[in-house]
Amino acid sequence: MKRVLVLVVLAFVATLLIRTVLFTPAAIETEEAVSFKVDAQQVAAHLSAAVRFATVSPPPPQIRDRPVFDQFLAWARSTYPELHQLPTAVVGEHSILLKWAGKNPQLRPIMLAAHYDVVPVVPGTEQRWTHPPFAGTIADGFVWGRGALDDKSGVIVMMEAATLLLKQGFEPERTVYFAFDHDEEIGGNEGAAAITELLQSAGVQLAWSIDEGSFILNNVPWHDLAGSQYQRRREGLPLPRLNRQR
Ligand SMILES: [Zn+2]
Repeated sequence: MKRVLVLVVLAFVATLLIRTVLFTPAAIETEEAVSFKVDAQQVAAHLSAAVRFATVSPPPPQIRDRPVFDQFLAWARSTYPELHQLPTAVVGEHSILLKWAGKNPQLRPIMLAAHYDVVPVVPGTEQRWTHPPFAGTIADGFVWGRGALDDKSGVIVMMEAATLLLKQGFEPERTVYFAFDHDEEIGGNEGAAAITELLQSAGVQLAWSIDEGSFILNNVPWHDLAGSQYQRRREGLPLPRLNRQR
């Protein structure tokens, strides 16, 4: 019996070794880098404006300040009119899903998602903020405030990038969905769930999606988590899944 076990282990190890030696990784596809001009000051001003909307997701059962969410969406429509020409569904009252149809319907769509709600400011900590959380201060080369990083930065850069490309007449090869949701910080039960249901009911099978991804940061303690590794972990989701994984 012992000899059989040893033989099995040896065969296993030999198989591993042979497969390792013979393994050839799939070629990595690379894309040509695209160069374009970004008006950094304007993007910063837009992010600053976005921060000034206190789109706070309060812990249930408190309800959100609905007019502020309406105002944020209205601001986004007027700031990014080209993007909002795309077919848009409003779901869960304050989340939006935009569809940018691709040239090749044979290709599965992708989805880029970000949330514009923010967590509350802990009462009593207001004085400890370097700049007030909802002032959208631009100072020392940064936009300061609640949501400047998590995750209005994601919302704004996607809206900026898509607008830039739309203005140039760019058409994506495959369909791109943009999902901007309003209740990620309290679980996404209204926004993300409704977007997922909408996509599933339409029979949409995504090739992949990225939600809240990703930051490129320097000199912060959780850099590794927030950087590209975080993004990679979120890629390759076979089904539309928003905000259910953190
Ligand atoms: Zn977030």
